[in-house]
Amino acid sequence: MADKIEIAIVGGGPAGLTAAIYGARGRARTVVFETGLTGGQIVSASWVENYPGFPDGVSGYDLAELMLKQAQTAGAEFRTISPVEAIRPEGSDFVLTVNGEEVEARAVILATGAIPKKLGVLGEAEFTGRGVSWCATCDGPLYRDKVVAVIGGGDSATQEALYLSKLATEVHLIHRREEFRATPCLQEQCFFNPKIIMHLSCVIDEIMGEGGKLTGLRLRSKEDDSVEILPVDGVFEFVGIDAQSALVADLCELDALGFVKVDRNGLTSRAGLYAAGDVSDYELKQVVTACARGAFAVYHAMHYLNTRVG
Ligand code: NAP
Repeated sequence: MADKIEIAIVGGGPAGLTAAIYGARGRARTVVFETGLTGGQIVSASWVENYPGFPDGVSGYDLAELMLKQAQTAGAEFRTISPVEAIRPEGSDFVLTVNGEEVEARAVILATGAIPKKLGVLGEAEFTGRGVSWCATCDGPLYRDKVVAVIGGGDSATQEALYLSKLATEVHLIHRREEFRATPCLQEQCFFNPKIIMHLSCVIDEIMGEGGKLTGLRLRSKEDDSVEILPVDGVFEFVGIDAQSALVADLCELDALGFVKVDRNGLTSRAGLYAAGDVSDYELKQVVTACARGAFAVYHAMHYLNTRVG
C-alpha cells in the first residue's frame, strides 16, 4: 500500500506545479489532484512575455508542459481528471473526497486558481461557443481575417488583443473607463497597434446576432448615452476572474471577494491548510508570483509537518 499522502495539492496550475516540484524534491509524498488536465489558466494564455528565462516569450501551453515535466521528474504524483469534491479536517489531517473516493493527507495546498468572469449581457448565453469566447489561444485562429471585439482594460484584455491583432483584420478594444489598469507596456503596444481600435468609456448593452450567427455589438457611450452598432464576427471577454475557493469556504477565512486569506507563508486561518496562486488574496496575479507562492506554501507545509507533534 502506498504511504499516506503528506502533501495534497489541489489544482495543477503554476502555483500547484511549483509546489509539487518543491514538495517532491523535499521527499514528501506529494500528490497533485486536477479536475481536468494540468496547467491551469496559463494554458489559455497565448504568449507569456514576462516569465524570466524566456527572452522571446513562451506560449502558456508550452510553459505549463515544461512545469509539469519538471514536477514529474522530481517525483510528484499526478491524478488528473480527479476533481476534489470535498475537504474535511480529521484530527490534524484532512480527508479529501476525490471522484467519490476518500483519501487522507497530512497537509493540503489549495491552488485551484480563478476562472474568467462573464459580462452577463443580453445575447451572451446564446452566442457562448458560437462567437463569444474567453480564450484567444483556443478560438483566435477561427477569426483569421475577420473582425473581433475584446472587452476589458486589464492585462488579459490588452495582451490577448495584441495576440488577436496578428490574426484578425481589426480588433476593437472596448473598455468601460478612460484609464486602463493593464501594465503600461501592454497599453502602449495596444495604442500603437494600427489594427487595434479603442472604444473607451463604452459598455456593451447586447451581443447581437441573426440566424444563430453573431453579427455585432450594441455599444453605449458612458459619456453621452449614445448608442452605436458595431459589426463584429467574434467577441472575447476579459473582465476579471473569480476565485475558486468554494471547497474551503467553511474551513478557513475568505476575503470579501471570495479569495482565500493567507499569511506571507501561504498559511490559511487553519493549521495544515495552505493556499497559493490566484485563489489566494495577493495583489499581483502573475505566473511568476503564483510559482513563488506555491514554493512558499509547500516549504512551510513541509516545515509544519516536520515539526508537528502527532
Ligand atoms: P483585471 O485586472 O481584473 O481586469 C479586468 C478588466 O475588466 C478591468 O479593466 C475592468 O474594468 C473590466 N471589467 C470588469 N467587469 C466589467 C464589466 N462588467 N463590464 C466591462 N468591463 C469590466 O483582470 P485580468 O486582466 O483578467 O487580470 C487578472 C489578474 O491576472 C491581474 O492581476 C493581472 O495582472 C493578471 N494577469 C497576468 C498576466 C501575466 O502574468 N502575464 C496576464 C494576464 C493577467 P475597470 O478597470 O474599470 O475595473
